[in-house]
Amino acid sequence: MRKPIIAGNWKMNKTAAEAEALINELKPLVAKSKPEVVLCVPYTALWVAGKAIEGTKIKLGAENVAWADSGAFTGEISADMLLEAGVEYVIIGHSERRQYFGETDETVNKRMKQALAKGLKPIVCVGETLTEREKNKTKRVLKKQIVDGFKDITAEDFDNIVIAYEPVWAIGTGKTATAEDANKTIGYIRSLVKKIWGQEVGKALRIQYGGSMKPSNAKELMAERNIDGGLIGGAALKAADFAGIVNYKD
Ligand code: PEP
Repeated sequence: MRKPIIAGNWKMNKTAAEAEALINELKPLVAKSKPEVVLCVPYTALWVAGKAIEGTKIKLGAENVAWADSGAFTGEISADMLLEAGVEYVIIGHSERRQYFGETDETVNKRMKQALAKGLKPIVCVGETLTEREKNKTKRVLKKQIVDGFKDITAEDFDNIVIAYEPVWAIGTGKTATAEDANKTIGYIRSLVKKIWGQEVGKALRIQYGGSMKPSNAKELMAERNIDGGLIGGAALKAADFAGIVNYKD
C-alpha cells in the first residue's frame, strides 16, 4: 500500500507573512488528512512555515537544492541550510527550472544525489512538453529523464524518492491530463522503474500527478491505480482549494 502524498508547490508566491496566514488558515482544514501533506514554500518563508506547522502532520518542503555543500554558488541554497530550517522534502527538476533556468537531467541527477546524501527526500519532476506529446515522443522523453536523471541512483535510494509526473502542457494552463491518460503514462514510468531497479522498487514508489489538479478533478485522478498523489501549483495558494484536494475522499 502506497500512502498518497499531496504536495503544494508555492513557486515564487507568498511573503513570509502571507505564508504564515495561509498556513494558519489551512491547518484546521487538513487536520484530519489521510494523505501525507507537504508544503514546498519559498526559501524566505521556510522558517515561518516551519514554526506555523509545528504540532501538525504537515511536512515542510523546499523548491530546489544545490548539489554542492557550500561555496561560490551565488543564488543557490544548500541542503544544510534547508535541513536547519526543518525541511524534509525538496522539489528537484521542476519544468520551470528546466525551462527558464537551464536545469538538465544531469543537474537534476547531481541535486538528487546531494539531497539523498544529506537526508532530504526529493520530489523529482518529469514530464513532456506539448510539442513532444504531439510528436508522440512522450515515452522517449520520460525514458531519458528517468535513465539520465536517475543515473547511479540505487534501489535503496528509492525509499526516499517521490516522482511527480507533470505534463508541461498541463501546468498552470487549466488543462488536465485525463485521469486515464495520466494513469497510463504514470504506469509507463512505474514499469520503467521496475525494469531498471526491480519489481519491488517500482511497486513501492509513489508517483504523483501534477498539472492543473483541483478539488473538482482530484477524486477522479486519485482513483486511478497508478496515481499516488498530486503536486499542486495554483490550487495550493488558496487554503480551501488545497484542502479540497487533500480531502479528496470526503
Ligand atoms: C506545478 O507547478 O507543479 C503545477 C502542477 O502547477 P499547477 O497545479 O498550477 O498546474
